[in-house]
Amino acid sequence: MKQKVLTLAVTAAVGFGTIFGGYAAKTEAESVSELKGKQSEIQNKRSGVKSDINKVNDKINNLQKQQSDVKDEMKRIDFAISDTTEKINDKKAKINATKTEINKLQGDIKVILDRMKKRSELLKERARSYQENGGAVNYIDVLLGAQSFNDFIDRANAVATLVLADQEIFKQHEADKIELEKKQEKVKKDLAGLETMLADLNKMSQELKVQMAEKNKLLSKLKVQENEAHEHAMNLQEQEGILAAQEAAIQRSIKSEEDRQARAAAEAKRAAEAKKAAQARQQQSSSSSSGSGGGGTVASTPAVSGGSFTRPAAGAITSTYGARWGTFHWGVDIAQGGTVPIVAAADGEVYVSHYSSSYGNVVYILHNINGQMYTTVYAHMRSRLVGAGQHVKKGQQIGIMGNTGDSQGQHLHFELYKGRWQFHSAINPMGIVPL
Ligand SMILES: [Zn+2]
Repeated sequence: MKQKVLTLAVTAAVGFGTIFGGYAAKTEAESVSELKGKQSEIQNKRSGVKSDINKVNDKINNLQKQQSDVKDEMKRIDFAISDTTEKINDKKAKINATKTEINKLQGDIKVILDRMKKRSELLKERARSYQENGGAVNYIDVLLGAQSFNDFIDRANAVATLVLADQEIFKQHEADKIELEKKQEKVKKDLAGLETMLADLNKMSQELKVQMAEKNKLLSKLKVQENEAHEHAMNLQEQEGILAAQEAAIQRSIKSEEDRQARAAAEAKRAAEAKKAAQARQQQSSSSSSGSGGGGTVASTPAVSGGSFTRPAAGAITSTYGARWGTFHWGVDIAQGGTVPIVAAADGEVYVSHYSSSYGNVVYILHNINGQMYTTVYAHMRSRLVGAGQHVKKGQQIGIMGNTGDSQGQHLHFELYKGRWQFHSAINPMGIVPL
C-alpha cells in the first residue's frame, strides 16, 4: 500500500469487546445497557468526525477560493505583462525611427555644410573677380559704364544688392544649418527620453515577471494544501465508514443479546413448566443443544500453521513494517501473481468488510487469542468472501489477493493491532504471525 494512504484511516477505535458479546454463549456477555452506552459513544465520535469532515470541506472551499483569487491576480499580471511588452515594442520602434531621423538630419546637415562650403568658395571667387576684373560679373565695369550720376547710384545699388544677395544666401545656409542642429538636438533629447522610458518599462516587465513567479509559487503551495485537505477528508470518510461498521456490529450484538435473553427467558419458562409437569408425573425428560457452523471454503494455500496465527497469504514479503521512503509503513506487504487466496490469520469475527478508496477491498477481523484481543487488516483484495458479523476460522479463506484501492501491483497489505484497531498503532506482525 502506498505510504500516503497508510497515514490515512481512522482515528476512531472504539470500545469494542462487544463484538464477541453478541455470541454470548461463548464469551462473557456485555449487558444491553453497556452495549447501548458504547453505541452512543460511537455515535458521539461519528458526529465529531462528521463535524471534522465539514470543517475540512470548508477548508477545501477556502483553499479553492484562494486559488481562484490568485488566478485572477495572475490574469491581471499577465495582462500587465502583455501591455508592458506592447509598450516596450512601441518604444523600440520609436527609438529606431528617431535614430533614423537623427541619421537623416546628420545627412541633411552634411548637405548644407557642403553647399555652404561651395557657396563660400563661390563668394571668394566673386570677391576675387571684383579685384581682378576677371569674374563672371565685372562690377567695376558695371559701375564705370554709368551714364549719369543717378545711373551710377542705381548701378552701385544693384551691385550692392548682388553682394548682399550672396551674403543673404550664405546667411540662409547658416540659419538652415543652425535649425537642423537644433532639430537634431531636440531629436537626440527625444531619443534619450525614449531610452529612459524603455529602461523603465523593462524594469516594470521584470518586476511583473517576478510577481508572476511568486503567484505561481503561491498557487502550487495552495494546490498542495488542497491535496492534503482532500487526503484528510478521505481519511475522515474512511474513519466514518469504520465507525459506522462498528456501530452496526454493536447493533447486531444488542439484537443478539436481546434475542439470547428472550430465548433464555423462554427456556426458563419452558423448564419451569417441564419441572412442574415432571413433578406432577414423576417423569423426567429434557434435552437441548445448540451449535454453530463455521467452515466455509477453506483454502489450501498457504498451509495452516500451528499456534494461534497462520500466514495470511502465500507469496514474497515485498515490504516490511517500519520506516519506508521517509515515512512509516504500518504493515507487511505480501505479493504473488495469479489467483492467490487470502486467509484469516486466526479465529475471529469479521467486523468490517467493505470497499474503500484507499484500502480497496478490505476486511478487518477481531481476534481473541487466549484473552488478548488482536485486530488484523487485509487490504487491496480483488474480492471479499466474508461479510461483517461473520465468524471465521484460522486459515479460512476471506478473499483473493488483488490490486484495488490505492495500490500499485497485486499484493496483500496486512496489518496487525494489539487490541482494537487504532490510528497509527499497528504493531510489527513479524514474530507474532508466522510470515
Ligand atoms: Zn503495504
